[in-house]
Order: sequence, then structure tokens, then C-alpha cells
Amino acid sequence: MNFTIQNVLIATHDDYATVDVQVVDSKIAAIAPKLDVIGAVFNGSNKLLLPGFFNAHTHSSEMWQRGIMSAFPLELWLAELYDFAPLDLEKVYLSALGTAVETLLSGGTSVVDHLVLIPGQELETIATANRAYQEVGIRTFIAPLIQDESLAAGMPSGESPQNHEPYFRSTSATLEIIEEAVKKFHHPDAGISILVAPTGIQLCTDALFTGCIELSDRYDLCRHSHLLETKAQEKLAQEKYGCTAVEHLNQIGYLSDRTSLAHCVWLSDRDIKILAETQSTVVHNPLSNLRLGSGIAPILKYRQAGVNVTFGCDGASSNDSQDLLEAIKIGSILHNVTDLDYQHWITPRQSVEMAALGGAKGLNVADKLGSLTVGKQADLVLYDLTNLSLLPRTDPIGLLVLGRPTNIVDSVWINGQQIVANSKVTTINVDELRQELFKHSQWETKRKSSTVAQIETHYRTVMDLPDSK
Ligand SMILES: [Zn+2]
Repeated sequence: MNFTIQNVLIATHDDYATVDVQVVDSKIAAIAPKLDVIGAVFNGSNKLLLPGFFNAHTHSSEMWQRGIMSAFPLELWLAELYDFAPLDLEKVYLSALGTAVETLLSGGTSVVDHLVLIPGQELETIATANRAYQEVGIRTFIAPLIQDESLAAGMPSGESPQNHEPYFRSTSATLEIIEEAVKKFHHPDAGISILVAPTGIQLCTDALFTGCIELSDRYDLCRHSHLLETKAQEKLAQEKYGCTAVEHLNQIGYLSDRTSLAHCVWLSDRDIKILAETQSTVVHNPLSNLRLGSGIAPILKYRQAGVNVTFGCDGASSNDSQDLLEAIKIGSILHNVTDLDYQHWITPRQSVEMAALGGAKGLNVADKLGSLTVGKQADLVLYDLTNLSLLPRTDPIGLLVLGRPTNIVDSVWINGQQIVANSKVTTINVDELRQELFKHSQWETKRKSSTVAQIETHYRTVMDLPDSK
């Protein structure tokens, strides 16, 4: 579809300008005042146009447990999550739709779904999430979450080495599934990419990482993992490798300019240097880091070292939403308490650049996405500056990032296709989605996780916490 947005506000270097924006054949064709009209006309008066943001790390199916998870650190939280995650394909489909819609209505046009796979139905899980994302029309990066060690191996052993059950599926069988998924679903030009996504050093052997590196090189795939989300993982890396996790991943060749790493809370100064040298991307998930007490990622240090940083919501049961603007706000101002030198603090314009261009860089698509630049794909978001939450009029980007914007997305185009108009998703019926989510769930209260009961004592011991009362 060709179209022209007239009289719209865009950000210039340090100010704003009112321009027309032409989109031809899904690309931005021209940006200037008073252009000729091409195709359909959209009135951009009193609206702000920004490039779409990236929700650069999430797990869509966690939506089914948002609001109910106990106040636990990651290792216990994961045990509870999996005890109560009897997923089926219908739920995978609905939560992918929900994740897409919430991402879109908070400024995101791309989603990286570190997708939890149903055992025995791995390819079906990927196909189902993919179908949901294609129906909505959001740009999709599916990172099938894989591991080859059992959950208990993700905790440090401490003094007494632990024996863990083997993982139910072999490393080679897991890699075969991913290769099959790549052959079936990896079509970047059609807006769907598959990533290799070993969950992290805590649950993956080197054989799995190495297999993923090979697939990534053979099929030109980006790489995505969790990295040093918790203090326990920092300890575990020392036990496992005798060095830091970053040093180890660097030694085996996992880090690169197409590697994005979620969390990165517990890194040393030397680790930060390695991330900068390898041009790896940090995906900052401030809300889940707060919710699970993981810590504050040293984002200001990353930025000063030249490490690319972008934002993710993380799964909806450690957040407990998929509001990208909320993640951007908290992920920007949280760090002011870590550094007295206010000249290092993240400004709203920098936040927007991190969320858009930073996301594109981490997925190796910065030549095509991430900024309002002639020749780039039209992944665009139009914000209504007359919305109550963006008034009175001051600095539009300041209001968007630092305020509490509510229902402010007027229109969204992805690859030049309009999928939100007049603040409504046009591609799917969101009222029906609400009814389905309601129907497939129930009001619940506190639950008891049997796995947590088994591992809590060990966790408290290795983390030097006093015995439970
Ligand atoms: Zn995650």
C-alpha cells in the first residue's frame, strides 16, 4: 500500500519538524514538508510519528500466569512457573495474540518471542505462535527456547556437588528441531525470522551452544539467550567454567554483532569490555529484574563502554504486563539512582533511540529498520498528542517516555501495512480475543509448588540465606 502522512511531527536532531512522509512499496520514500500526495492520505496533525520499537525479549505464553506468581527469585520462580504451565496449542495461540496486541498498543512493531516449546509438540508450538503473529501482522522474531540440562542444574551446587537427572531430549534431537523450524518458518523478507536461542549458560551445555553457533552461521540467524540474570547464575558460571559466563561464551565464539543477551545484570568490568568488543547487544528487562529481585543491570556502564542496549518486557508473569512504554520508562530512569553523575543519565530521546534503532541493531536489521530514514521499511507508529495523558503540550517525546501514556497509539504500519487505525487493531478482533482469554482462565489464588518445596532448602543454603522459619 502506498500512502502519505501529512503535517506530522517528527523528531529532528534536537527539535521537532512538521513534515509529510511518503511510503511507497512498503518503504519510506520521502520525508519533507509539502510533498505531493501519493496513495492514501492520513492526517498527521497534532500527531507524532516515530519508528516502531522492539519488544526485544519476551515469552508470550507466560501471559497465562501473570499476576499470580509468588514473590520468588528467578530459580524458585521458574520452578513454580513450570509446575503450573500445562500449556496447550490453543493457549500458545491466544497468548501470542495477546502479546502482539499489547506490544503494538505500546509502540512496538517487532517482538522477540523466546518461545517456550511444548514437549513433543515443538514444531507445532512454533507454527502456532507464528500463525498468531502473522494474523496480527506484527514483525516477528521467534527464538525457540531450548536447553539440554534439567531445571535443577540451573542452581549452583555449593559445597556438595549435585547429581541432576538428564534432560528428556538429546542435544542433537533439539538441534534437529531448530533446523527444521528454520527450514519451515525462517522468512525474514516476509517479516518472520527464527533465532537460535539456547536459554542460557545455566541450563545449556557447550555442545548445545556450539550446535547453535553452527546453525546461526549456516543459515545466517541471530542468536538470543538469557545472560547472568541472577547472582546464583554468576556463582554457577564460576563452578561450571572457572571463569565468568561472558568469558566462557566469548571463548566458544557465541558472542557477535548478531547476538542479543537478555538481562546482563551480574557482569564484571572485563565482561562489559568483551560485550563491547564483540558488539553484542544487551536487552534490558527492568521490570522482571525488579519483580524477581535479580538486581539492577549496569546499563549506564554499558552505554559508556559503547555496548548497544535495547528494551524488552520479558515474559508477562515476571513483569506482569507487556507494556513496552512502561519498560522503557522504568528502564531509563531506574539507573539515575546508580550514578550521581547526571550527565550519564538516559534522556527520553536516547530511550527512544535505544528502543527503536537499538532493537534493530541487536537483530542485525539496522539497515532496514529502527529509524525514520528514506529507504528503510515503513514500521511506523503514530501517537495522538491530543490524548489527555500527553497534555498539556510540552516536549512530546518527554511526555511519551516519562509520563504515563494511556491509549496514545493512533496508527501503526508494519512493512507499509496499516494494522492499527483509530487506536484499534484492524487485523484481528480484539473483543473476541478478550472473550477467549477470559473463557480459558479462571480467578485463582495462592498455589503451592511441589518443586519449590523440594529445592528451596538447597537454594537458601547456596545463597547464604538463613534457614526457613
Ligand atoms: Zn526471559
